[in-house]
Amino acid sequence: MLEIKNLHVKLEEEDKQILKGVDLKVGPGEVHAIMGPNGSGKSTTSYVMSGRDGYEVTEGEVLLDGENLLEMEPEERAAAGLFLAFQYPVEIPGVGNMTFLRTAVNAQRKARGEEEMSSTEFLKEIRAKAKSLKIDSDMLKRPVNVGFSGGEKKRNEILQMAMLEPKLCILDETDSGLDVDAMKLVSDGVNALRDGKRSFIVITHYQRLLDHIKPDVVHIMSNGRIIKTGGPELALEVEHNGYADLLAEVEGA
Ligand code: ADP
Ligand code: MG
Ligand code: MG
Repeated sequence: MLEIKNLHVKLEEEDKQILKGVDLKVGPGEVHAIMGPNGSGKSTTSYVMSGRDGYEVTEGEVLLDGENLLEMEPEERAAAGLFLAFQYPVEIPGVGNMTFLRTAVNAQRKARGEEEMSSTEFLKEIRAKAKSLKIDSDMLKRPVNVGFSGGEKKRNEILQMAMLEPKLCILDETDSGLDVDAMKLVSDGVNALRDGKRSFIVITHYQRLLDHIKPDVVHIMSNGRIIKTGGPELALEVEHNGYADLLAEVEGA
Protein backbone atom coordinates (compact mmCIF):
# COMPACT_ATOMS: atom_id res chain seq x y z
CA MET A 1 0.00 0.00 0.00
CA LEU A 2 2.38 2.71 1.25
CA GLU A 3 6.12 2.45 1.09
CA ILE A 4 8.48 5.20 2.17
CA LYS A 5 12.06 4.37 1.28
CA ASN A 6 15.06 6.16 2.71
CA LEU A 7 13.37 9.56 2.57
CA HIS A 8 15.70 12.53 2.98
CA VAL A 9 14.21 16.01 3.01
CA LYS A 10 15.71 19.44 3.52
CA LEU A 11 14.18 22.89 3.70
CA GLU A 12 14.19 24.72 0.38
CA GLU A 13 14.99 28.08 1.97
CA GLU A 14 17.86 27.08 4.21
CA ASP A 15 20.40 24.32 4.29
CA LYS A 16 18.65 22.37 6.99
CA GLN A 17 18.18 18.60 6.73
CA ILE A 18 14.95 17.58 8.43
CA LEU A 19 14.32 13.99 7.38
CA LYS A 20 17.39 11.79 7.41
CA GLY A 21 16.32 8.47 5.99
CA VAL A 22 12.74 7.64 6.90
CA ASP A 23 11.64 4.07 6.11
CA LEU A 24 8.04 3.03 6.56
CA LYS A 25 5.78 0.34 5.13
CA VAL A 26 2.05 0.33 5.73
CA GLY A 27 -0.06 -2.57 4.47
CA PRO A 28 -3.71 -2.43 3.36
CA GLY A 29 -6.11 -1.99 6.27
CA GLU A 30 -3.34 -1.36 8.78
CA VAL A 31 -3.24 1.42 11.33
CA HIS A 32 0.21 2.74 12.17
CA ALA A 33 0.87 5.27 14.91
CA ILE A 34 3.85 7.62 14.78
CA MET A 35 4.96 9.15 18.06
CA GLY A 36 8.05 11.12 18.94
CA PRO A 37 9.36 14.31 20.52
CA ASN A 38 8.45 17.71 19.09
CA GLY A 39 10.54 18.69 16.10
CA SER A 40 11.44 15.13 15.11
CA GLY A 41 9.95 15.46 11.61
CA LYS A 42 6.52 13.83 11.93
CA SER A 43 4.60 16.70 10.36
CA THR A 44 7.30 17.22 7.74
CA THR A 45 6.85 13.60 6.64
CA SER A 46 3.13 14.15 6.09
CA TYR A 47 3.63 17.54 4.42
CA VAL A 48 6.11 16.07 1.96
CA MET A 49 3.70 13.25 1.19
CA SER A 50 0.93 15.73 0.46
CA GLY A 51 3.17 17.86 -1.76
CA ARG A 52 3.42 21.01 0.30
CA ASP A 53 5.85 23.70 -0.94
CA GLY A 54 9.05 24.58 0.85
CA TYR A 55 10.63 21.14 1.11
CA GLU A 56 13.18 19.48 -1.12
CA VAL A 57 13.45 15.72 -1.35
CA THR A 58 17.16 14.98 -1.69
CA GLU A 59 16.90 11.18 -1.61
CA GLY A 60 14.37 8.39 -1.39
CA GLU A 61 10.84 7.70 -2.60
CA VAL A 62 7.24 7.47 -1.48
CA LEU A 63 5.13 4.85 -3.24
CA LEU A 64 1.36 4.52 -2.91
CA ASP A 65 0.26 1.25 -4.50
CA GLY A 66 3.48 1.31 -6.48
CA GLU A 67 3.01 4.83 -7.82
CA ASN A 68 5.55 7.49 -6.90
CA LEU A 69 3.63 10.16 -5.01
CA LEU A 70 6.53 12.58 -5.15
CA GLU A 71 6.16 12.94 -8.91
CA MET A 72 2.49 13.93 -8.65
CA GLU A 73 0.78 17.30 -8.20
CA PRO A 74 -0.97 17.65 -4.82
CA GLU A 75 -4.44 17.17 -6.41
CA GLU A 76 -3.21 14.05 -8.21
CA ARG A 77 -2.10 12.66 -4.86
CA ALA A 78 -5.59 13.21 -3.49
CA ALA A 79 -7.07 11.49 -6.52
CA ALA A 80 -4.65 8.62 -5.96
CA GLY A 81 -6.25 8.19 -2.55
CA LEU A 82 -4.20 10.19 -0.06
CA PHE A 83 -5.93 12.24 2.61
CA LEU A 84 -4.29 14.41 5.22
CA ALA A 85 -6.07 15.72 8.29
CA PHE A 86 -4.03 18.68 9.44
CA GLN A 87 -2.88 19.62 12.89
CA TYR A 88 -4.38 23.06 12.25
CA PRO A 89 -7.33 22.81 9.84
CA VAL A 90 -7.53 25.82 7.50
CA GLU A 91 -10.42 28.25 7.48
CA ILE A 92 -11.87 29.16 4.08
CA PRO A 93 -13.99 32.31 4.44
CA GLY A 94 -16.69 32.76 1.80
CA VAL A 95 -16.88 29.08 0.83
CA GLY A 96 -19.74 27.08 2.32
CA ASN A 97 -18.72 23.81 3.89
CA MET A 98 -21.15 21.77 1.79
CA THR A 99 -20.11 23.49 -1.47
CA PHE A 100 -16.49 22.88 -0.62
CA LEU A 101 -17.08 19.19 0.01
CA ARG A 102 -19.14 18.73 -3.12
CA THR A 103 -16.42 20.41 -5.21
CA ALA A 104 -13.74 18.25 -3.59
CA VAL A 105 -15.66 15.03 -4.09
CA ASN A 106 -16.41 15.78 -7.73
CA ALA A 107 -12.88 17.00 -8.51
CA GLN A 108 -11.59 13.72 -7.14
CA ARG A 109 -14.10 11.70 -9.16
CA LYS A 110 -13.19 13.62 -12.29
CA ALA A 111 -9.47 13.02 -11.76
CA ARG A 112 -10.25 9.31 -11.41
CA GLY A 113 -12.28 9.35 -14.60
CA GLU A 114 -15.51 8.69 -12.69
CA GLU A 115 -18.92 10.33 -13.08
CA GLU A 116 -19.90 13.27 -10.85
CA MET A 117 -22.11 12.58 -7.87
CA SER A 118 -25.66 13.86 -8.40
CA SER A 119 -26.94 16.49 -5.94
CA THR A 120 -29.50 14.09 -4.53
CA GLU A 121 -26.93 11.39 -4.02
CA PHE A 122 -24.48 13.87 -2.49
CA LEU A 123 -27.06 15.31 -0.10
CA LYS A 124 -28.16 11.90 1.04
CA GLU A 125 -24.61 10.81 1.71
CA ILE A 126 -23.39 13.96 3.44
CA ARG A 127 -26.46 14.09 5.71
CA ALA A 128 -25.99 10.51 6.84
CA LYS A 129 -22.27 10.95 7.45
CA ALA A 130 -22.67 14.34 9.16
CA LYS A 131 -25.29 12.90 11.46
CA SER A 132 -23.03 10.13 12.69
CA LEU A 133 -20.37 12.75 13.50
CA LYS A 134 -22.91 15.00 15.27
CA ILE A 135 -22.40 17.76 12.67
CA ASP A 136 -25.63 19.72 12.25
CA SER A 137 -26.96 21.24 9.04
CA ASP A 138 -25.99 24.72 10.21
CA MET A 139 -22.34 23.65 10.36
CA LEU A 140 -22.62 22.28 6.84
CA LYS A 141 -23.80 25.65 5.52
CA ARG A 142 -21.26 27.83 7.31
CA PRO A 143 -17.97 28.81 5.61
CA VAL A 144 -15.37 26.03 5.94
CA ASN A 145 -14.04 25.98 9.52
CA VAL A 146 -14.72 29.71 10.07
CA GLY A 147 -15.64 30.22 13.71
CA PHE A 148 -15.67 26.47 14.32
CA SER A 149 -14.44 25.34 17.72
CA GLY A 150 -11.38 23.08 17.85
CA GLY A 151 -13.58 20.02 18.22
CA GLU A 152 -15.89 21.09 15.36
CA LYS A 153 -12.90 21.55 13.04
CA LYS A 154 -11.64 18.06 13.81
CA ARG A 155 -15.06 16.52 13.30
CA ASN A 156 -15.34 18.41 10.04
CA GLU A 157 -12.04 16.91 8.90
CA ILE A 158 -13.32 13.42 9.62
CA LEU A 159 -16.42 14.29 7.59
CA GLN A 160 -14.18 15.34 4.68
CA MET A 161 -12.34 12.07 5.04
CA ALA A 162 -15.57 10.08 5.11
CA MET A 163 -16.83 11.82 1.96
CA LEU A 164 -13.58 11.40 0.01
CA GLU A 165 -13.12 7.73 0.93
CA PRO A 166 -9.33 7.76 0.63
CA LYS A 167 -7.01 4.73 0.53
CA LEU A 168 -4.56 6.19 3.01
CA CYS A 169 -5.47 8.69 5.73
CA ILE A 170 -2.90 10.59 7.71
CA LEU A 171 -4.06 12.22 10.92
CA ASP A 172 -1.50 14.69 12.25
CA GLU A 173 -2.18 15.34 15.94
CA THR A 174 -5.90 15.28 15.32
CA ASP A 175 -6.32 14.75 19.04
CA SER A 176 -4.54 17.92 20.15
CA GLY A 177 -6.92 20.29 21.91
CA LEU A 178 -9.78 17.82 22.02
CA ASP A 179 -11.71 17.05 25.17
CA VAL A 180 -12.54 13.44 25.94
CA ASP A 181 -15.97 13.52 24.27
CA ALA A 182 -14.65 15.12 21.08
CA MET A 183 -11.80 12.64 20.98
CA LYS A 184 -14.27 9.78 21.25
CA LEU A 185 -16.34 11.21 18.37
CA VAL A 186 -13.28 11.62 16.18
CA SER A 187 -12.04 8.11 17.03
CA ASP A 188 -15.45 6.58 16.36
CA GLY A 189 -15.50 8.41 13.00
CA VAL A 190 -12.08 6.99 12.12
CA ASN A 191 -12.99 3.50 13.30
CA ALA A 192 -16.15 3.60 11.17
CA LEU A 193 -13.89 4.16 8.15
CA ARG A 194 -11.72 1.12 8.87
CA ASP A 195 -12.66 -1.58 6.42
CA GLY A 196 -9.75 -3.95 6.01
CA LYS A 197 -8.39 -2.08 2.98
CA ARG A 198 -8.10 1.56 4.00
CA SER A 199 -4.90 2.35 5.88
CA PHE A 200 -4.19 4.99 8.50
CA ILE A 201 -1.18 6.79 9.86
CA VAL A 202 -2.00 8.40 13.18
CA ILE A 203 0.52 10.94 14.44
CA THR A 204 0.01 11.61 18.11
CA HIS A 205 1.69 12.59 21.35
CA TYR A 206 -0.76 10.72 23.49
CA GLN A 207 -1.37 7.09 24.17
CA ARG A 208 -4.99 7.87 25.08
CA LEU A 209 -5.99 8.37 21.43
CA LEU A 210 -4.59 4.91 20.76
CA ASP A 211 -6.95 3.46 23.36
CA HIS A 212 -9.72 4.40 20.94
CA ILE A 213 -7.99 3.96 17.58
CA LYS A 214 -6.09 0.74 18.14
CA PRO A 215 -2.89 0.68 16.10
CA ASP A 216 -1.36 -2.45 14.57
CA VAL A 217 2.11 -0.93 14.61
CA VAL A 218 3.72 1.91 16.58
CA HIS A 219 6.77 3.84 15.38
CA ILE A 220 8.93 6.26 17.30
CA MET A 221 10.47 9.08 15.32
CA SER A 222 13.39 11.14 16.48
CA ASN A 223 15.73 13.52 14.72
CA GLY A 224 14.43 12.79 11.22
CA ARG A 225 14.29 9.01 11.41
CA ILE A 226 12.16 6.20 12.71
CA ILE A 227 14.26 4.87 15.55
CA LYS A 228 12.02 2.12 16.88
CA THR A 229 9.05 0.09 15.71
CA GLY A 230 6.86 -2.17 17.79
CA GLY A 231 3.32 -3.11 18.71
CA PRO A 232 0.77 -1.14 20.76
CA GLU A 233 2.83 -1.83 23.89
CA LEU A 234 5.48 0.59 22.61
CA ALA A 235 3.01 3.47 22.98
CA LEU A 236 2.32 2.42 26.56
CA GLU A 237 6.02 2.28 27.27
CA VAL A 238 6.42 5.85 25.99
CA GLU A 239 3.45 7.00 28.04
CA HIS A 240 5.03 5.63 31.20
CA ASN A 241 8.69 6.35 30.65
CA GLY A 242 8.82 9.24 28.17
CA TYR A 243 11.27 9.28 25.26
CA ALA A 244 14.53 9.76 27.14
CA ASP A 245 15.20 6.06 27.83
CA LEU A 246 14.36 5.06 24.27
CA LEU A 247 16.60 7.73 22.78
CA ALA A 248 19.48 6.77 25.07
CA GLU A 249 19.01 3.10 24.18
CA VAL A 250 19.17 3.86 20.46
CA GLU A 251 22.11 6.24 20.75
CA GLY A 252 23.97 3.79 22.97
CA ALA A 253 23.42 0.94 20.52
P1 ADP B 1 7.14 17.32 14.48
O1 ADP B 1 5.89 17.30 13.68
O2 ADP B 1 7.71 15.96 14.74
O3 ADP B 1 6.98 18.09 15.74
P2 ADP B 1 8.16 18.93 12.34
O4 ADP B 1 8.12 18.07 11.14
O5 ADP B 1 7.09 19.95 12.49
O6 ADP B 1 8.27 18.05 13.64
O7 ADP B 1 9.55 19.70 12.36
C1 ADP B 1 10.80 19.06 12.22
C2 ADP B 1 11.92 20.09 12.27
O8 ADP B 1 11.93 20.84 11.09
C3 ADP B 1 11.79 21.10 13.40
O9 ADP B 1 13.09 21.36 13.88
C4 ADP B 1 11.20 22.30 12.72
O10 ADP B 1 11.55 23.48 13.39
C5 ADP B 1 11.82 22.24 11.35
N1 ADP B 1 10.97 22.79 10.29
C6 ADP B 1 9.94 22.18 9.67
N2 ADP B 1 9.38 22.96 8.72
C7 ADP B 1 10.07 24.11 8.78
C8 ADP B 1 10.00 25.35 8.05
N3 ADP B 1 9.11 25.54 7.08
N4 ADP B 1 10.89 26.33 8.36
C9 ADP B 1 11.80 26.13 9.34
N5 ADP B 1 11.93 25.02 10.05
C10 ADP B 1 11.09 24.01 9.78
MG1 MG C 1 5.02 19.37 16.60
MG1 MG D 1 3.96 18.07 14.07
